[in-house]
Amino acid sequence: MQHTIKPEEHGPLGAPMAQAVEACVHCGFCLAACPTYQEFGQEMDSPRGRIVLMKQVLEGTLPWAEAQPHVDRCLGCLSCEPACPSGVPYRDLISPFRARMEEEKKGVRTMGEKLRRWLAAQTIPYPGRFRLALAGAKVGRAMGGLVPAVLRPMLALAPANVPAAVKLKAVYPAQGERRARVALLAGCAQQVLDPDINVATIEVLVRNGVEVIVPESQGCCGGLAWHTGDLVAAQTFARRNLAAFPADVDAILTNAAGCGSAMHEYHLVLKGTPDEAQAKEFERRVRDVSVFLAKLGLRENPRGTGAMSGGGVHEGNAKKAGTLKVAYHDACHLANAQGVREQPRALLRAIPGVEVCELADAHLCCGSAGTYNLDQPETANSLGAQKAQAALAALGGGEGVVASGNIGCLTQLRVHLEKIGSPVRVRHTMQVLRDAYRAGDARREAR
Ligand code: SF4
Ligand code: SF4
Repeated sequence: MQHTIKPEEHGPLGAPMAQAVEACVHCGFCLAACPTYQEFGQEMDSPRGRIVLMKQVLEGTLPWAEAQPHVDRCLGCLSCEPACPSGVPYRDLISPFRARMEEEKKGVRTMGEKLRRWLAAQTIPYPGRFRLALAGAKVGRAMGGLVPAVLRPMLALAPANVPAAVKLKAVYPAQGERRARVALLAGCAQQVLDPDINVATIEVLVRNGVEVIVPESQGCCGGLAWHTGDLVAAQTFARRNLAAFPADVDAILTNAAGCGSAMHEYHLVLKGTPDEAQAKEFERRVRDVSVFLAKLGLRENPRGTGAMSGGGVHEGNAKKAGTLKVAYHDACHLANAQGVREQPRALLRAIPGVEVCELADAHLCCGSAGTYNLDQPETANSLGAQKAQAALAALGGGEGVVASGNIGCLTQLRVHLEKIGSPVRVRHTMQVLRDAYRAGDARREAR
């Protein structure tokens, strides 16, 4: 698309934004892939429409305030990227544009919206504060209508019970002969909402001969700040992780798609700074745990189907039915942002008796998308309800598990499956795998 953007007027992120605009040929192939185009049915809420709006703002021919509602409604799900035959790097435009909007103080928001954004930014990236905030949400729920409407989406998403914190050790030695050594990002919200995901991930890695270190000085990946336009905070988080993760590991692993995607964008976050080269080197070593494990190969396939009930591990319904149906939900930041689709499925298929079921409209976001379900609760709820129904349909209405590789998606699916009274359990891919290993162990011991 022709444009008159002057990149130098927009700082280090000006050039990537201009290049993304340039690459778009306005063909419209991306429209069908875009969840907000499906929800709102208007061009300005499609990828193509947003590219034109952002182009005009960057050219100086459209006020920021006119583009903002449509830019705010973008999930950042990147479903438009694989759908685009011209290879438009939409990620190089949307987050940098949001950063510019906040930098120029052009975002028009009510006091309530500012308060909600500030609260999210000050709590979610810090496990201790987030845990306290969730305890506070219990009180807020009891206050019902006294809580300002703008904060109610936060209460609706806060789980009624928060699991006990798990303190991770600095090092977990590999079982048997060591095949690799990795450093794990523990994730901030995930540590609080479902600490068992890290426990399961470490257990699966260790039993596959991988030594896992968990650097103590690591912090939030910075994704939440980056996707809401807080560039300074995103840079601070990124620099902290550049310093925290050692060079003498085979890979830096994450088990949260959103974190992995954000860490793969550190070159943009730190563009034009002295840390840009180190960010690129860091990104090269970042992998989702499913990618790492699939490439390494399982030393030994799990021997149990790992069907679960409660928090425990036993063979439950799988024993009765002979198979465990697992509806696998593609987290956008794994499938679209990192191109990871096959590896988690392959790992699940390695479990005897597991049948991986595909969701209809799998490319559509579940509506979680960072703080989207706080900022745009109606759209997020609509997408979440559709995804829960799609997951149930994939399981054929029967028993089974919904699996995914991102805490945001897992939380969103849990909330919406509970809303419709479904008993189907929602688990991280690593939890399904870990449970299958343990079920196999239990079966062996019982013999
Ligand atoms: S598919 Fe790609 S090139 Fe076509 S309108 Fe969408 S972003 Fe532009
Ligand atoms: S990132 Fe998602 S919501 Fe935003 S334009 Fe692309 S497909 Fe649409």
